[in-house]
Amino acid sequence: AGGLQRAPARERGEALVWDECGVLQLARDEREAVAQHNAIATLGLPPGYAQQASRDAASAYAGVPLAAGGLWFPSSGWIRPLSLIDAQLAAAGARLEARFGCEAARITRGPEGWTATDRDGRTIARAPVVVLANAADALKLAPQHAIRIRRVRGQISFLPGERFAAPHVVVLRGGFVLPAMRGESIAGASYDFDDDDPSPRASSHAGNLERLARILPGAAADLDPAALQGVVGFRAVAPDRLPLIGALCNEDAAAPRNPRLATLPRCEGLFGSFAFGSRGLLWAGLGAELLASHLEGEPLPLEARLAEALDPGRFLLRALRRATSARA
Ligand SMILES: Cc1cc2nc3c(=O)[nH]c(=O)nc-3n(C[C@H](O)[C@H](O)[C@H](O)COP(=O)(O)OP(=O)(O)OC[C@H]3O[C@@H](n4cnc5c(N)ncnc54)[C@H](O)[C@@H]3O)c2cc1C
Repeated sequence: AGGLQRAPARERGEALVWDECGVLQLARDEREAVAQHNAIATLGLPPGYAQQASRDAASAYAGVPLAAGGLWFPSSGWIRPLSLIDAQLAAAGARLEARFGCEAARITRGPEGWTATDRDGRTIARAPVVVLANAADALKLAPQHAIRIRRVRGQISFLPGERFAAPHVVVLRGGFVLPAMRGESIAGASYDFDDDDPSPRASSHAGNLERLARILPGAAADLDPAALQGVVGFRAVAPDRLPLIGALCNEDAAAPRNPRLATLPRCEGLFGSFAFGSRGLLWAGLGAELLASHLEGEPLPLEARLAEALDPGRFLLRALRRATSARA
């Protein structure tokens, strides 16, 4: 929910549903409070972007008594993801040919470039470049044995306004709670590994209420997990928790003798932008910009070290280096 930057009105699009209400990131303990203090001092962040807030100050921003102080991001807020997607589709206009309700079952490369086909072998699209942006399913279309992406279930809980005094700002501390919208607030989220259950369940609501209690002490007392409603989504998470953005490797080609990211064999015209974990709303735009810069040969929007940290080839590189040192 956090990190939303102030955007000029003309860039917001008509349909955006969001609020720049401010975001509080509460410290989990004294150690994190010190780390937050040091981060603000070291990075010299402007107070309009981030500042430290005592427990009293944080509670005043939130309008309800909070469990701790933390970082206050006055120009951040929440956004409704579907409205962001609608606005992005509208902004792309005729430059984007969207196909909804069809599954790419296979991608193949021929002399003309890449072809995506459905389960019946019908062509969905042809293009010189493919960018797989379908989360954990990317590896079904382009298997990469060195890469392991886990699906992590996340359930959010809707909190009825009549039994819960919601904060006026977004508050995070292990979990999150949002301000009320149309009489209802949202708290979350569970983080369940190896759990494909798409249905909301009471045990996950109970976990969300525990997270809520660590943010707003006592606020969950009148809420019954068995009576709450919620929805479930799935995150795609890499072992190092960073996304994979860049050219995918050709694992069938001979590995270079002294492997480096720059010398790994790649699949021509095949790129990925996935495994955004819990930060997809922020990472996806940056990932698209990074890929566009790679493809157009423009300067990268990130420093080289960070771009390398996101390179999908990092996992093959580690595997090759492990194999080399095991042989030595
Ligand atoms: C409970 C919860 C809370 C979250 N909160 C936040 C938050 O506050 N801020 C934030 O930034 N992020 C948050 N996230 C994470 C965010 O939702 C993800 O990072 C983001 O959705 C990833 O976007 P994506 O497009 O890569 O993948 P997805 O949103 O998973 O979309 C992948 C799409 O690809 C489609 N697809 C898959 N395979 C194929 C195929 N073969 N052919 C055609 N289509 C295919 C799927 O149907 C799906 O529509 C949260 C996630 C959860 C679960």
